[in-house]
Amino acid sequence: MREEEKLAGDLYQAFYGLYDWRIFGNISRSESTHVAAVLRLFDLFGIEDSTPDEVGVFANADIQKLYEDLKTSGEVSLVEALKVGAYVEELDILDLEERLEATSNADIQLVYENLLRGSRNHLRAFTRVLAQNDVYYQPLLLSDDYFNEIVEGAMERGSQNGNCALGYGYANRNGNNNRAQYNSEDCEGNPQNGVGGQQKRYRGGN
Ligand code: MN
Ligand code: MN
Repeated sequence: MREEEKLAGDLYQAFYGLYDWRIFGNISRSESTHVAAVLRLFDLFGIEDSTPDEVGVFANADIQKLYEDLKTSGEVSLVEALKVGAYVEELDILDLEERLEATSNADIQLVYENLLRGSRNHLRAFTRVLAQNDVYYQPLLLSDDYFNEIVEGAMERGSQNGNCALGYGYANRNGNNNRAQYNSEDCEGNPQNGVGGQQKRYRGGN
């Protein structure tokens, strides 16, 4: 999960560099907080972190390959990059759920529940921006029913303390005038006010 969270963050950072749509910048920052949460578990259990700091470099060969494949897919176009985002979140949801089932440790459960909530929100954000651009994402990993249940659900807020319960601006289509609101995150690491506040409407091509 440590490298899977990095995979998501590094991919979105690459796509942010390529397309300059803030959904990628904001969700990439959220993934950094997810990595930090997993690393706190490493500290707790005295596990050494063997993952390189460099963007796009992983210790796990499968994740390295997945990163390269998904980056190549997302480089085709903005829509393909948004689809990669949705796919990565589907993958995270399945893997986090599987690992939640496999542990009875309360610290791990708390972190994974928070990461899962983040992933559901990210999946909502990516599919919503795709839909705003007339692309209706079909799940590749989750069942249709489960996928629909998630994306039709409301954005979930953090629940650890009162400071977390702040709103989002996902549906904002003319996000040019609210950049100043993009500098804070809730306690799950979700950027407040604007995962989906993209600067422009995608009109096809690259
Ligand atoms: Mn994550
Ligand atoms: Mn995510």
